[in-house]
Amino acid sequence: GAVRCACRPLVRAYATPASPHALVLLEHRAGVLDSGSLSALTAATHLGGQVTGLIISGPEGASVVDKAKKLKGLTGLLHSTSELYSAPVPEAVSPLLTAVLGSTPYTHVVSATSSFAKSLLPRVAAQLDVPAVSDITSLEHDAASNNTTFTRPIYAGNAIATVKASSSIPIKFFTVRGTSFIAAPSDDNASVDVQEVDPIVVSDSPTEHVKTSLTKSDRPDLGVASRVVSGGRPLKNAETFQATLYPLADVLGAAVGASRAAVDAGYADNSLQVGQTGKVVAPKLYMAFGISGAIQHLAGMKDSKLIVAVNKDPDAPIFQVADVGLVADLYEVIPQLVEKLKQ
Ligand code: FAD
Repeated sequence: GAVRCACRPLVRAYATPASPHALVLLEHRAGVLDSGSLSALTAATHLGGQVTGLIISGPEGASVVDKAKKLKGLTGLLHSTSELYSAPVPEAVSPLLTAVLGSTPYTHVVSATSSFAKSLLPRVAAQLDVPAVSDITSLEHDAASNNTTFTRPIYAGNAIATVKASSSIPIKFFTVRGTSFIAAPSDDNASVDVQEVDPIVVSDSPTEHVKTSLTKSDRPDLGVASRVVSGGRPLKNAETFQATLYPLADVLGAAVGASRAAVDAGYADNSLQVGQTGKVVAPKLYMAFGISGAIQHLAGMKDSKLIVAVNKDPDAPIFQVADVGLVADLYEVIPQLVEKLKQ
């Protein structure tokens, strides 16, 4: 350590950095905690200090709170409930978050890179005049200097930026890319105390929730599935897309994904698009059938653990990221695969 002169009092621009205390937004739907929030919690534990969860819910939110109490890594849990929060809009929730941040000296505010948080966190950060770092894939907190350094992909994942939020930023806001951190597990023996926080009712909110339209599917959710079967342009139309890919997805228990070409042509729903302008996935197994491997598609799947590609063109760029590649016609390969897997 540095030797300090005892003759003069040490002058610091900032108070001795307290050990980190993160506030993690825990989002949920239909009584289930979002897996992205669980990954955000894991990221928050990497800061090395206390981690308090924040659940905002309608009156039906009690079951989520019970589940959250058991999350490994949490040292505290706040819950705010109001009719207003049954389908929250960022405008209505931001005063609550601001109030919570005013009550305790949190050092970090953390959430998943979700649509809701993408609107909420920068809004509150701007009001507090601090920056927000989005979609981070790793982080390191130096307790001595109180700097937090993040990495985040830029240019559709073609470059990784290293960003330092320095000690001069009193509260560091960041959103977390779910595929980069494991989901925080539950520990049945764990139970943190829950502190209720009064809701803040905004009477003059410029926006109100009208309705939520969700795509219903019996298949595993693309965002969290451990196996994904994806199809591209040569799947011809919606009928062929389903008739060809679904039997394979069913036998593997996999989610179905699609390239943008397949989505734009109407073969598959928007929610199935994988890539820069779709979902970012990192399953254990990603199978790409008739997908060329455009850079915008790779941005959404290249971190998958095992990539299997089937393409007629031996020069297709997908083969550059594939662990297993087969130059073949997907219409010959898929039925054989399904047959073999069923055996
Ligand atoms: P194609 O490029 O047409 O490739 C089809 C492939 O199938 C070819 O490689 C061909 O050899 C092979 N093939 C043909 N027939 C068979 C067969 N019978 N058996 C086996 N193989 C066969 N794309 C995304 O996917 N996701 C995104 O999020 C995304 N975002 C974008 C954002 C921007 C700003 C831009 C400009 C583009 C974006 N794109 C995205 C589009 C991307 O650039 C490609 O156009 C798209 O991914 C191509 O889809 P594809 O591979 O299905 O089709």
